[in-house]
Amino acid sequence: MAEINRRIVLAARPSGLPKGSDFRLEEAPIPRPEDGEVLLRIQYLSLDPYMRGRMNDAKSYAKPTAIGEVMEGGTVATVLESRHPDFKPGDTVLSYSGWQSHAVAKPAELRKLNPKEAPVTTALGVLGMPGFTAYVGLRNIGQPKAGETVVVAAATGPVGSAVGQIAKLQGARAIGIAGGKAKCDFALQELGFDLVLDHGAKDFAAQLAAACPKGIDVYFENVGGHVWDAVFPLLNNFARIPVCGLIAQYNADGDAFPGPDRFPVVMRQVLSKRLNLRGFIQFDFAEQRPDFIRDMAQWIRDGRIKYREDIVDGLENAPQAFIGLLQGKNFGKLIVRVAGS
Ligand code: NDP
Repeated sequence: MAEINRRIVLAARPSGLPKGSDFRLEEAPIPRPEDGEVLLRIQYLSLDPYMRGRMNDAKSYAKPTAIGEVMEGGTVATVLESRHPDFKPGDTVLSYSGWQSHAVAKPAELRKLNPKEAPVTTALGVLGMPGFTAYVGLRNIGQPKAGETVVVAAATGPVGSAVGQIAKLQGARAIGIAGGKAKCDFALQELGFDLVLDHGAKDFAAQLAAACPKGIDVYFENVGGHVWDAVFPLLNNFARIPVCGLIAQYNADGDAFPGPDRFPVVMRQVLSKRLNLRGFIQFDFAEQRPDFIRDMAQWIRDGRIKYREDIVDGLENAPQAFIGLLQGKNFGKLIVRVAGS
């Protein structure tokens, strides 16, 4: 086989926002499948905020990527060669093969996709891990009720856009927060949020207070930072806060964050307002995946959930696209088209 495996490895641990030199593009021979394995050609690579955490040598819920190791990530791939009876060349699968053009995988790590049922990229976004995150975070922690106010930031991304739309399906009022006019317009007009605010506005906190005259019942925490500061005083008694992501602080070095220690103030409100603030990682609710696929696929078919994808061409462009994601440059679910590059 004349092809080579192109792969992007972690070259250095970033300090602050990652740089291009923290990644390295390498070429290697195509790996060979053993009995019971398949050889994959990666079509699409998902880029997700959690990858920033893997670049740090810090204790977390998952182990860090080692220096020189291929960056990890969800992928959609085509089976090139199969040494397992359940797979044949040409099958399309969801795999976890990382930032590379080819990989060997075991069937337990794969899920077959039917390209006739839905565009295969949706397995990385609205019908994949991010959509599932929105679904389980709301279902198990947020639990919005009709008439309640739900607030979510990163509102045009795959998690936030699903949060707002699912909240609407449950009869809640959905307030989105996004960066810049184009994203705000899209979330309002295409995704159907009731109101969308630009977190870059000078008077953002005052705008949010005016938008939530009855306070906030569910704050789906995607970002932290100045958005959290604006939301916090508006939380109602018994508000639910699924703590899903804190992208505003992913580039902070170590545990030292600027500003005064607000922990006592936050804890006083947690107590007096009886706030339900609960962190979660989507795989905590893995047993709910069949419910998610059933509901989300139906909502998409009915046109009740919409989604947007931001597709970048070429594996070599993955580092810059990922750095852009951490700065809000993506507009929709960020995916790299690997094959054909
Ligand atoms: P997105 O595609 O929405 O991309 C991240 C977005 O965050 C950016 O586009 C930007 O949107 C916004 N953002 C970046 N920096 C800031 C900042 N300083 N302040 C406010 N907003 C900022 O990402 P996802 O939908 O994939 O993920 C959303 C969140 O969910 C992330 O925090 C992620 O880590 C988390 N997550 C958690 C999971 C879990 O299991 N707990 C699983 C999956 C995701 P804008 O320009 O609109 O501000």
